[in-house]
Amino acid sequence: MTVKETDGRIRSILAALKNYAVFFAVAAFAVTCCMLLFLSTMIETTGVELTEDAIQKAAKLTFVNVMVISLIFLIIDLLRRKITVDRPVKRIVSMFEKIMQGDFGVRIERFPFGTVDSGFNTIIDYINRSAEELSHVETLRTDFIADVSHELKTPLSVIQNYAVLLSAKDISDEKREEYAGAVIAASKKLTELITNILKLNKLENQQIFPSCKAYNLGEQLCECLLGFENEWEKRQMEIETDIEEDIYVSADPELFSLVWNNLLSNAFKFTEDGGKITVALHADKEYASVSVSDTGCGLKPETGGRIFEKFYQEDSSRSSRGNGLGLALVKRVADIMKAEIDVESEYGMGSTFTVRIPR
Ligand code: ADP
Repeated sequence: MTVKETDGRIRSILAALKNYAVFFAVAAFAVTCCMLLFLSTMIETTGVELTEDAIQKAAKLTFVNVMVISLIFLIIDLLRRKITVDRPVKRIVSMFEKIMQGDFGVRIERFPFGTVDSGFNTIIDYINRSAEELSHVETLRTDFIADVSHELKTPLSVIQNYAVLLSAKDISDEKREEYAGAVIAASKKLTELITNILKLNKLENQQIFPSCKAYNLGEQLCECLLGFENEWEKRQMEIETDIEEDIYVSADPELFSLVWNNLLSNAFKFTEDGGKITVALHADKEYASVSVSDTGCGLKPETGGRIFEKFYQEDSSRSSRGNGLGLALVKRVADIMKAEIDVESEYGMGSTFTVRIPR
């Protein structure tokens, strides 16, 4: 027997003795009161006086009676505790032991009505729900690790393969340039992926505290759009803006610039050369609404809100063009800033992403 177990046993013996003392005191008090009442009524009605010897005998008998009655109460109480308290506590403890070992699939069965204190069933419900949440978080974590590893593998193998080709002695300058370009592009993709993972991690762990200030939203949108000027000129795309003037919001400009850059970069990425991109800003008393529309490939009807999931990409053939984290970041920022984000899309026709920022 371990020191802990011996300690536990001593504690339970002491608790039983304490309970016995309490039962004894209560029973002694109750029996004495009853006796006194009985004797005084008897003397009053019959006038019979008890001898000292008889009183002593009765006192001894009563003392033994009280001891026996207290013992019976103690045994009943111990049995009651064993069934209604110790049993559920044991089940709960064994479940926590399993959870501590990493088994989040365990659940405790509820006790039939009336067999234990009803409070235990409420505790069991809460514990089962917590275990379910934990197992959900664990699945997300393992999925995330699998996704990250998968995303890291592709550019790494590209780098490896082209590095092998580059190491050959007899390659032309043209080929060398091509292979070096592929290595640079793959390493850029890796950097982008890792930067996005870190950003998302910071946003999810609330390590980024939004620093809100009132700023001109229209100006910010124009600045972000201008960042894509080279691309729209090179790809001969049409840009339309419908931006209301002097719309101010109180928000974190840095976080929202991340949102606009991601939405615009997707709009350019998923629209063919010569297509059209429209940026609009309108406001009422409650909200400022920004929408980014494109005439690109659009989303399949069955995709739904999945585009906001981490690493989701509708078409794996497009995976070379991104890492599926952009919209997860956008959604996270929107949640932190209490903004709403919606998407309307028609497959093959284009998409419109709308962000509503509370003013
Ligand atoms: P990615 O890095 O692949 O762009 P995102 O999280 O930004 O990752 O987007 C997830 C997926 O949502 C994209 O792979 C694409 O399938 C779809 N998507 C996002 N924006 C658009 C858009 N404007 N038009 C069509 N599909 C889009």
